Amino acid sequence: MIPAVMPTYARADIAFERGEGVYLYAAGGRRYLDFGAGVAVNSLGHAHPHLVAALKAQAETLWHCSNLYRVTGQEKVARRLIEHSFAETVFFCNSGAEAMEGVIKVIRKYHHAAGNPERNRIIVAEGAFHGRTLATLAAGGQEKHLKGFDPVMGGFDRVAFGNLNELRNAIGAATAGILVEPIQGEGGIRPASMEYLRGLRAVADEFGLLLAFDEVQTGNGRTGKLFAHEWAGIAPDVMGTAKGLGGGFPVGAVLATAKAASGMTAGTHGSTFGGNPLAMAVVDAVLDVLLADGFLDQVQEMGRLLWQELGKLAARHPALIEERRGAGLMLGLKCRVPNADLVKAAMDEGLLLVAAGDNTVRLVPPLIVEAPHIAEAISILDRSLARLAA
Ligand SMILES: *Cc1c(COP(=O)(O)O)cnc(C)c1O
Repeated sequence: MIPAVMPTYARADIAFERGEGVYLYAAGGRRYLDFGAGVAVNSLGHAHPHLVAALKAQAETLWHCSNLYRVTGQEKVARRLIEHSFAETVFFCNSGAEAMEGVIKVIRKYHHAAGNPERNRIIVAEGAFHGRTLATLAAGGQEKHLKGFDPVMGGFDRVAFGNLNELRNAIGAATAGILVEPIQGEGGIRPASMEYLRGLRAVADEFGLLLAFDEVQTGNGRTGKLFAHEWAGIAPDVMGTAKGLGGGFPVGAVLATAKAASGMTAGTHGSTFGGNPLAMAVVDAVLDVLLADGFLDQVQEMGRLLWQELGKLAARHPALIEERRGAGLMLGLKCRVPNADLVKAAMDEGLLLVAAGDNTVRLVPPLIVEAPHIAEAISILDRSLARLAA
């Protein structure tokens, strides 16, 4: 018999009742240190008072009115995102995949509007993940995600992640844009080098392509900058983000330059729920915290601390851990034991982690994490690894 909830996930047999800060509490009361943050979503931890207050206040005034009318919350949040990024215009939606669908549409429409409809192919990277809709599955190109869902949507050309020569060679008359994650998340916390990201910008400019970043996971302070590409000192033409943007409220966004969005006129794109007043009130509150003086500096400091501690941890358990990688508070351990075993062992010890590709385990704690939480996580990891070794 099929479960009432369609069984598309391999779920751990545990249900959480409430959360507070960096901790989750399961039915029965057991406490877990949450270094998974709902897959890098609970950017400000659980039940952050400022977010709770913003959502409650909005819930008492207006939930939804549709995009048939002006939504003042969208106007305010868009202005704030524009002020703090490369973007000149923002489209709001509800998830990462929806944001990346929007990015793909912006790229295609740009060339169509410029009189070059034949330029509609996008170069993507091996190991990428852009979501589970049909277009984003095709962009990600993962065999295990695509299996059984033929026909695969066309329009994507895949090259090795990090290889600029291969990318240049893949550019043809039909190429419209380049789409990559600054750090591949689901693919196993695999960072692009700064030179690669700068090279992508140069290649896109040379060939008149739009450069698109998927910052669904890397964005919203995760790496210690508001967006990860800032570390490379370059900017994309268009970008999708989601996960941490609403701190747990479902929301996504497409950020673009005026030029990239020049084809996105009335009627070209839409989303019934996209940017509704509830979502906008929460994003506004998330931005209050992320953009407060010193907050991202603190994220960088905690990132450095966790990075150091993971280095020592890996050195203590060389038979189980191959290496640490990532940036800011988006870090990964590449394992020599099955990554699922480490996730399970840590959960048994009260620490939540998230498995990723390339046999890695992700550490993506809430951005409000403090030094004692990091010490607690490391000591649990030590115990878990010792148990796995035994
Ligand atoms: C999670 C993720 C997505 C998909 O987001 P959903 O909200 O699950 O649709 C897309 N791209 C990246 C890089 C992601 O990490």
